[in-house]
Amino acid sequence: MQVYPRESSRLKSAEAIVRENFPQFGVNKKQEIIRLLYEISKREGIEPEDILKEEESLQDYLRLKKILLQRRYPLAYQDQPSLKTYLPKFKFQAHPLNSDLAKNKKFYPRKVFIEKSVISSGLATRFKGFFPKADFEEIESFQAYRVKNKDFGIGAYNKRQETVFIVRENYDFFKKCPCTKCASACGYHIFNLGFGCIYECTYCYLQEYTNTPGIILPANIGDFFNAFNAYKREGMRIGSGEFTDSLALDRWTGYSLELIDFFKQHPQVTFEFKTKSIEIDNLLKTKHAGNIVVSWSLNPQAVIDENEFFSSSLEERLAAAKKCVAAGYRVGFHFDPIIYFSGWQSGYAWLIEALFAGIEPKDIAWISLGTLRFRPELKTVIENRFPENKILDEELLLGYDNKLRYSDKIRYGVYSYMISAIRGYSNDIELYLCMENKKMRGELSL
Ligand code: SF4
Repeated sequence: MQVYPRESSRLKSAEAIVRENFPQFGVNKKQEIIRLLYEISKREGIEPEDILKEEESLQDYLRLKKILLQRRYPLAYQDQPSLKTYLPKFKFQAHPLNSDLAKNKKFYPRKVFIEKSVISSGLATRFKGFFPKADFEEIESFQAYRVKNKDFGIGAYNKRQETVFIVRENYDFFKKCPCTKCASACGYHIFNLGFGCIYECTYCYLQEYTNTPGIILPANIGDFFNAFNAYKREGMRIGSGEFTDSLALDRWTGYSLELIDFFKQHPQVTFEFKTKSIEIDNLLKTKHAGNIVVSWSLNPQAVIDENEFFSSSLEERLAAAKKCVAAGYRVGFHFDPIIYFSGWQSGYAWLIEALFAGIEPKDIAWISLGTLRFRPELKTVIENRFPENKILDEELLLGYDNKLRYSDKIRYGVYSYMISAIRGYSNDIELYLCMENKKMRGELSL
């Protein structure tokens, strides 16, 4: 049974057109034309057979491809006819999330694996108390488990919320944010506290790690703290939201309580929680030293509805930020990823207005801006997991770092608009671009 009938039948139509009209094309040429027909059809909401009416007789591959590229990337093509496109072969497998996304998912793991060396840890004990109906199993190590059960794929990844691994982290405690090739780095550092997330964002880069069938949580946070003294630098910014949401599981892990307490001894360091959740109860009941920033990723509600499944609504995020401000925290906001769509200007203008209606500029530690980007390999994963997504319909091209991004012109327009809208409320807020090149940064007045 096809569980994504619309997209699979669209693909079949595109394949049939190419089979019938261009039998002389080689495999790769056929594949490119199929993909262009499919993407144009999806983007424009028409059938693939309605695209080629006039060009059907075109047997010249280059001419046909040019016509289709012009139609698929109309804005980018005007500026730069030699487009760096990414048109991979389709790899549809039957693992879309359509039906699951309708459910109101509550986190309750069915299986919790605990490494032998942390079987008596506080985290393992807490999980046993919170999830008495889960099946708990002791394992020698996560690595050994993964080697033995290596055939994971998108199907297993889709169910990762059902499985938790409580582990001892031995090496990978901290790292400098890898940023992206040729970008202007912001000097952020990452506290590797957990891997995997219970939310489902269409654009999430963690989907590349389909070989990790669960949420991984270290039980030895004390070892992170011991390692920190050798790692820390004066004035550094460090946060835990790189491979997971910093707070989504906090009511069960309790990590925030220990982190806030630990960073009281390091007032020269700023620690940031980054989240799309409203899990702030632990934060509100803990005394902090003023060096903790609680940050939310923000998008217009329509973008959240279509792309950030199971996370908190915009209204809830802003209300939680307000409570944190009332509790003396500084807050941060990440317009990241900014999604380009028809009507993006009014969507983001409204969002910025809503932000400043509830939060005063003086309470904001920083705001970052970053348009959608991801490694090309993610494109087919997104197509499989979210066949009806809209984010891939926009004009995403291989950028300066070989990631799929909007064109320079679109990104410049988006950043200029956002900066000017934010500066309309305050000239003093620290604003920075995330994963952008020096050229873009130089052209914008931050
Ligand atoms: S909240 Fe972040 S880590 Fe979680 S799914 Fe979304 S993008 Fe990925």
